[in-house]
Amino acid sequence: MITTAGVNRPDIYQEAPFIRACCMDRLNKVGLKYMNDIKKILLHTCCASCATYPVELLLSQNNEIILFFSNSNIFPETEYEKRLQSARHLSRELHLELIEDTYDHLSWLEHIKGLENEPERGRRCIKCFEYNLRRTALSAENLSIPCFTTTLTVSRHKPSRVIFEVGSHFPGFEPVDFKKNNGFSRSIELSRQYNLYRQNYCGCEFSMRNTS
Ligand code: SF4
Repeated sequence: MITTAGVNRPDIYQEAPFIRACCMDRLNKVGLKYMNDIKKILLHTCCASCATYPVELLLSQNNEIILFFSNSNIFPETEYEKRLQSARHLSRELHLELIEDTYDHLSWLEHIKGLENEPERGRRCIKCFEYNLRRTALSAENLSIPCFTTTLTVSRHKPSRVIFEVGSHFPGFEPVDFKKNNGFSRSIELSRQYNLYRQNYCGCEFSMRNTS
């Protein structure tokens, strides 16, 4: 079950007009009428800290954002709860709607089965991106939100090119490279400003071994 706990639309690649054109194209394809200035985007939020700069950028470009917390990759559940609480805090601070997806780590484990020993940035991570972006795409469709993107590209540890390749398989995905223009540094600055929780490992149990 997905629960709702703010809102806005895309941007980047420094070419908002291009993205707007993509959205219009999608709206046209699904037979919806493009009204004056629809600028809504579902923002897959891997964690509050990573979401800070994407939100700042997208809002500055007059987009409407809904945060979507969907991270069944996180382990253990207590860590998931910490990151979720931090996302709730950010949504309240910024008056943005937050949609919380179901936490289903067993399903995620099944999805990456056989890749447990892969290194971070390897094939397991590609499957992990796929899992979360698929859920975001489905939710965007269910909510009739024409576009979605992800905060995952803020991280210096996650190649945007790979995320774009995975995302390109889902309708409505917008390839936004949030690490551009010092996005990662800005996200750290903002997360301090909002007093957000910052984790010391990526998320799954297999990434914990890299922190010891
Ligand atoms: S290391 Fe991070 S991106 Fe890779 S599978 Fe684990 S949680 Fe997902």
